[in-house]
Amino acid sequence: MEYNEYQDQAAEYMRLALPLMKKHGIAMTPANYAVWYEYVAGNNEALKHAVDANVDDNERLSEKQSSELYQKFFDREKDQAALLEMRQDLRRVLAEVLTFVSTGVTSSKSTASNLTDIIDKFHPNMKQEEVRDVIDDVLSETRLAVSTSELLSERLNTTMAEMHDLKKDLDAARREAKIDTLTKLANRKALDDVLEKATRDADSNNVELCLIFSDLDLFKKVNDKHGHLVGDQVLRVVANTLKGAVKGKDLVARYGGEEFAIVVLNTSLDNVKRLAENIRAEIAAKRMQRKDTRESLGTITMSFGVARYFPSEGVDSFLQRADRALYMAKRKGRNAVVEALPPTI
Ligand code: GH3
Ligand code: MG
Ligand code: MG
Repeated sequence: MEYNEYQDQAAEYMRLALPLMKKHGIAMTPANYAVWYEYVAGNNEALKHAVDANVDDNERLSEKQSSELYQKFFDREKDQAALLEMRQDLRRVLAEVLTFVSTGVTSSKSTASNLTDIIDKFHPNMKQEEVRDVIDDVLSETRLAVSTSELLSERLNTTMAEMHDLKKDLDAARREAKIDTLTKLANRKALDDVLEKATRDADSNNVELCLIFSDLDLFKKVNDKHGHLVGDQVLRVVANTLKGAVKGKDLVARYGGEEFAIVVLNTSLDNVKRLAENIRAEIAAKRMQRKDTRESLGTITMSFGVARYFPSEGVDSFLQRADRALYMAKRKGRNAVVEALPPTI
């Protein structure tokens, strides 16, 4: 029906309804008008019968009767409209809940279909209790969805915490793999890695790179006289002395048994020789004694070889030259610092 047609029709119904209302003495309230409009429109058979049945012999309809008719025939429609509106609202709210829940929830699919099934149970002729039951279902399903999501985020947090712990363990293991257990200095592996990188940098950027190689003098005697445990104690003291003598960026490593190496960056060879000399003097000046008997260990000394890296010579040549210089210091009578010869071409 076109809008104009609808208007004409409405006007016609009004023309019919108003005199009837007047005739039956009905007050002109919107509710009463709705009843009589519907009556003359003739769309609602039940309403027509009810009105006819209620009109008394004097053809009058009391205010109370009219109001009851309105309640009977129109409240229901209002309910239907409200129900439809509620259905829309629920769908919207649930869509939001589901979007929230579906971020990472595996059961969201079943939750979504459960909820859709429940919402579709809404139909205009539902009784009050049925509506309440459906709403209860929706709420419990929604709560389930939300708690599932909370459970999942809790589980996610636990997993993340576990992963964090694992990473920490892994980092610790990685660090441990490069640390000497006796002295807590960098080990041979760490030294190799650092030298690998430092020589590459020196090859490309001409960075000053020096190496101090050192070995305890006649250490066998210390072990023979005082035992290995005391020997270990000496190694720890020496390690701490070396560590304390260098700057943070320089690497002190235990190369092997009683051999130590120091990688020094951006420092001239003269200064590195001076550093080695200072360490030599400091160790030689120490008066070490056994912890248990306080017996003196006598003078403990070390020999040193110092080498400056020549770009492109490579790690092996560098280490070999430093080691040869150390050997020369031993040959010279020990407790000495010797500068390495340049690489042979
Ligand atoms: P040199 O001056 O020629 O170096 O004489 P040296 O006695 O030090 O001779 P060498 O370097 O050949 O001997 C190394 C000794 O260091 C052998 C071993 O008893 C001792 N040593 C090596 N590693 C350890 C260790 O971890 N703990 C202890 N206590 N001693 C070690
Ligand atoms: Mg030695
Ligand atoms: Mg040795």
